[in-house]
Amino acid sequence: MPIYEYTCDSCSNKFDKLRPVTRMDDAAPCPACEGDSSRQLSVFAVYSSGSDGEMSAVPGGGGGCGGCGPGGCACSMSV
Ligand SMILES: [Zn+2]
Repeated sequence: MPIYEYTCDSCSNKFDKLRPVTRMDDAAPCPACEGDSSRQLSVFAVYSSGSDGEMSAVPGGGGGCGGCGPGGCACSMSV
């Protein structure tokens, strides 16, 4: 399950949530003020490059490649 990062629209608090891909666009209330937040997109790249095959399902993209190592995979670049 991928981690998504959100930024609160009200207090600019940043937090992340572990949630299914199917729910990535659901509202994530800010833990500090319960306000609305916006999902940040940058986490994907950081997260997938840091994982060492531990998280083989690349959210929003491929999923067809299970055997690529960190860094040099073409399928993670084509998302
Ligand atoms: Zn907030």
